[in-house]
Amino acid sequence: MSLDFLAPTDATAAPVPAAAAGAQPDAQLPALRQTFTRLGPEFYSSHAPQGLPEPRLRLVSEDAARLLGLRAPDPEQPLQSQSCAQWAHVFSGNAAAAEPAGSAGCGAISTVYAGHQFGNWAGQLGDGRAHLLGEAPAPDPAQAQGHGWWEVQIKGAGRTPWSRHADGRAVLRSSLREFLCSEAMWHLGVPTTRALCLVDSDLPVRRESIERAAVVARLSPSFLRFGHFEHFSHSGRHDALRRLVDYAVERLYPQAAQASNPALALLREVGAATAALVARWQCVGFVHGVMNTDNMSMLGWTIDYGPFGFVDAFDPGYTPNTTDAYGRYAWARQPAVARWNLLALAQALLPLIGDEQSARDAVEEFADHFMPAMRDGMQDKLGLGPARDDDPDLVQDWIDLLAACRADWTIAHRQLAHCVARPQAGVPDALQAQFAAWPQRLQDWLERLQRRLDGLDAAQRAQRAERMLRVNPCYVLRHHLGQEAIARAEAGDFGAARRLQRVLRRPYEEQPGCEDLAAAPPADAGPPVLSCSS
Ligand code: AMP
Ligand code: MG
Repeated sequence: MSLDFLAPTDATAAPVPAAAAGAQPDAQLPALRQTFTRLGPEFYSSHAPQGLPEPRLRLVSEDAARLLGLRAPDPEQPLQSQSCAQWAHVFSGNAAAAEPAGSAGCGAISTVYAGHQFGNWAGQLGDGRAHLLGEAPAPDPAQAQGHGWWEVQIKGAGRTPWSRHADGRAVLRSSLREFLCSEAMWHLGVPTTRALCLVDSDLPVRRESIERAAVVARLSPSFLRFGHFEHFSHSGRHDALRRLVDYAVERLYPQAAQASNPALALLREVGAATAALVARWQCVGFVHGVMNTDNMSMLGWTIDYGPFGFVDAFDPGYTPNTTDAYGRYAWARQPAVARWNLLALAQALLPLIGDEQSARDAVEEFADHFMPAMRDGMQDKLGLGPARDDDPDLVQDWIDLLAACRADWTIAHRQLAHCVARPQAGVPDALQAQFAAWPQRLQDWLERLQRRLDGLDAAQRAQRAERMLRVNPCYVLRHHLGQEAIARAEAGDFGAARRLQRVLRRPYEEQPGCEDLAAAPPADAGPPVLSCSS
């Protein structure tokens, strides 16, 4: 399949926005390739999506489009309606639906995987509503972590052989959350699959009530999950497992091919990438919500946005997922769960690794990567610079204080930069307000912080504070903001969603007129939780 015609070349198209200037707007994408198919028929199903009736392009990420060398049409520009219709046609799955299956070896495919869900073996799962359209070259591999391609996947375009009893659809509200959060996370500096665009339709979809169908097109160098390996290992197909490991090594971690035990090297690489990812999640206060092994990416990128949440009033036991009654996937448990998931991956790879102790040792390296990444992340967030002996206590006491006061994670860290920059100016009201329950404990802790920073001159303090503002975001996709944007979008108005998308592109910069997006949730916002329904 080809995306050639997506590059708008019509004379009526608006000029390239400044942000897209490097995109070579008229670049023609070659046909999308499938490489996964070379693994063999037991890995996938060649299966055209059903698509969507009368799809409408609602949201586009200009940044993600640029990753493919495409110029994004603007759904708000009537003059670009032709381009928008073309995008809607392709990314609803309608174009692939019209192609003969497996044409030129390039038809859409869905893949089979398995997984552990909430600690239990769930057996075979698979892309129940995702179609891989194929892979496009990445004009700037640096943006794809050095990989030279982006895989293009659409989610919600209809049933696949792995849909079980479900409908293969995704509703607008969950698609909107995935779209907004993927792009927001990327701009926060957290590895994540990207969201290219969101298309919706009047097609009714039954969940708790009747909702509207949508499709998100997403990009990643790979959509391989831990669960892909578990599937072939647990069903005893070790020859297929070996092919999959070779494929993952060649594509994702070519350096592991040189190792005497490539499967072991692969496990170690995935462990290191996962540790770096989870440290980033912890620092920005992101809770994934469904860290099942089928939702763990072999690249160590955030994947499958379901009932995720950003911590507002800090509670280490916070989980946004109402199905998670025991808090298995709560903020404080994410590192331990990541390690547990790596154990599941190690077990799956064991037939190839051979030696159980080596596999265990490789998993235990998770802590060697996670602990320093988390430590450095917090040193930066608090403006402490290189770690000193007493710093772990200072950091832990800060986290305990945030929890005791249910202080807003994002606001508290952001405001702290002012204390580091100008200690003589006193504690900002916005910071004080977060610790209203224990003002004296805040004072005491800030005095310890100032003693720790004693000796820094004004210029050094300014430098530290500036660094803090580059790691402590002003804007995250708070639950209540997402819900508000969803309510408006469901009524046909995507203005609030577009505004969020725009502001969350620059999460570390205070943007005039956007104070409402930086504020803590209003008292009547309701709990920041969701079910898995999507
Ligand atoms: P998730 O909880 O979204 O990660 O999904 C778990 C599994 O269920 C995956 O294999 C999904 O592809 C599948 N799935 C979830 N929702 C649907 C749906 N509406 N239709 C088909 N499969 C689905
Ligand atoms: Mg999933």
